[in-house]
Amino acid sequence: MSLLTVKDLGKTFGGNRAVDGISFNVAAGELLALIGPNGAGKSTTFNMVNGQLKPDSGSIRLNGQELIGRKPREIWKQGVGRTFQIAETFASLTVVENVQMALLSADGKLFSMWRRAADHRRADAMHLLDQVGMAPQADRPCSVLAYGDVKRVELAIALANDPKLLLMDEPTAGMAPKERNELMALTKRLVVERGLAVLFTEHSMDVVFAHADRVIVLARGRLIAEGTPAEIRQHPKVQEVYFGS
Ligand code: ADP
Ligand code: MG
Repeated sequence: MSLLTVKDLGKTFGGNRAVDGISFNVAAGELLALIGPNGAGKSTTFNMVNGQLKPDSGSIRLNGQELIGRKPREIWKQGVGRTFQIAETFASLTVVENVQMALLSADGKLFSMWRRAADHRRADAMHLLDQVGMAPQADRPCSVLAYGDVKRVELAIALANDPKLLLMDEPTAGMAPKERNELMALTKRLVVERGLAVLFTEHSMDVVFAHADRVIVLARGRLIAEGTPAEIRQHPKVQEVYFGS
């Protein structure tokens, strides 16, 4: 069954039809790649799903409930999480403090000096760090981590709100191939273990074909193809867009 149902979604900037009436579904337990050349409308689509941009037309339903018109924070509370292209953690805090802060924020509370001193929700934070393989580095400051490890912490932070759907805009940007594959393998494991749905954008076709369960392809705001990695690889329209043949 579909968790996220997007229908006839559209957005125009000035005279530019950035997203031109696209429809797609994301199911729980699915790792879905959204690909397409620069300017295809991928980020605009993400920003409409998380409520940062208001669509001109269409509908976005999560478990049957319309998201359009809700504030980003309400959509986040409903279970739509996101990670950012540039990893965002508080460098002066430790790994576990960053996750504790995210857990408190999900509870609507602030991370204060006394909560820090009292190790508020530390056990829950450690549990999440364990899931992303970062428990051994829990007490290191985020400022000293390798980039791939910052991305893992960022995943734990996103999981703190227990999302049903996670949006990842170019999660592997700036990473070496080995790190990319590790991050996507970890993401896939979370999808399977938690029944999470993940929608991600990705430039590397190797990553998409190796890890995605399903792929949707945008070009100039239109959805031109949809299918398994094997189907997408051979799709004539995709060949045309990517290889001009
Ligand atoms: P992608 O993420 O696939 O590279 P985007 O969604 O960022 O594509 O952009 C789709 C189109 O919309 C592009 O032509 C881009 O220039 C335009 N666009 C995106 N955001 C804005 C904005 N805030 N204002 C005006 N035009 C925008
Ligand atoms: Mg983009």
